[in-house]
Amino acid sequence: MKIDSKIKMNTGTEIYQFGLGVWQSGPETKEAVLAALKAGYRHIDTAAIYKNEEAVGEAIRESKIPREELFITTKLWNQDMRDHKVMEAFELSLKKLGLDYVDLYLIHWPVKNEYIPSYKIMEEIYKSGRAKAIGVSNFKTHHLQDLLDNTEIVPAVNQMEFNPQMQDYDILEMCREKGIVFESWSPLGSGACLDDEELKEIGRKYNKSVAQVIIRWLLQKGIVVFPKSVHEARIKENADVFDFELTNEDIKLIDGMNKNLRTGADPDTFTF
Ligand code: NAD
Repeated sequence: MKIDSKIKMNTGTEIYQFGLGVWQSGPETKEAVLAALKAGYRHIDTAAIYKNEEAVGEAIRESKIPREELFITTKLWNQDMRDHKVMEAFELSLKKLGLDYVDLYLIHWPVKNEYIPSYKIMEEIYKSGRAKAIGVSNFKTHHLQDLLDNTEIVPAVNQMEFNPQMQDYDILEMCREKGIVFESWSPLGSGACLDDEELKEIGRKYNKSVAQVIIRWLLQKGIVVFPKSVHEARIKENADVFDFELTNEDIKLIDGMNKNLRTGADPDTFTF
C-alpha cells in the first residue's frame, strides 16, 4: 500500500484510498491543499458547505499537477436539495473549483423526501460525464436500501462517520455487499480520538502517533480515509503511514473500542 494506492469503484474508475479532508480548513485551505499535494496526496474531499471550493481549485491550478492525476470530491448541500436546485448547485461547485468535471459528487446528508429526486438529477449529471462517479454520505442502511429501490445507478461511495469510537458495521457490510466503496469521515473523531491511552500504547510499539495508528487501521480495513489538517507537519505525519503494518491483534483491539459515540450528527435526526 502506498500514498497513491487506489480502489476500483463500481463505475470502473478508481479512487485513491488516502486523501485530505478540508472541512473547517478556513483561510488556510489553499496552503493546506498545496502542502498536501507536495507531500504526495492526490485526493481532496471538499463540499459546497465547506465554503472553500475556490481555494481548493486555486491550489489545484497552482500545483500544476495534471488534472487526471487528481481525485476531487465535492458534495451537494441539504438546502439546495430542499430548494430543488441540484443542477444549479452542481454547476456552481464546478465553477468555484474551476473544473470541468469532479471525480465524485455526493449527497451530503439524506434529506427526507428529497434525496431520491436529488439523486435522480445526479444520475443525469453522471451520464453527462461532469461527475465521473456519484454517491452518498451519511446514508444508514435504511436510507441506502430506499435509494437502491428507487433509483437506477448504484452509488459508487458512501461516506460515513467511522473512527475507533464510532464503528457501524451494519452499513459497512451492506456497502461491501452492494459493491459500494466505504469512506470514513472524521477518522480521528475530529481530534476526539487522539488522547486515547490504549491507542497511544499501540502507537509506541510501532513508533507512530495515535493519528497514524488510526489512519493505518482504516487503510488496512480497506476503508477510504482523508484526515484533515492545515498544518504542514501534520499533513506529512498523516501521510507517513505506508511503512508499517498493524498486526491483526492490534486491528481487533481497535475494533473493540467502538462506543457508538458520534462526534457529528445522527443521519436520522440531523436538523440542518
Ligand atoms: P479528522 O477526524 O480528520 O480530525 C481532524 C482534526 O484532528 C484536526 O482539526 C486536528 O485538530 C487534528 N489532527 C489532524 N491530524 C493530526 C495529527 N497528526 N496530530 C494531532 N492532531 C491532528 O476531522 P474531520 O475534519 O472532522 O474529518 C475529516 C474529513 O472528513 C473532513 O475534513 C471532511 O472532508 C470529511 N467530513 C465529512 C462529513 C460528512 O458529513 N460527509 C462530516 C465531517 C467530516
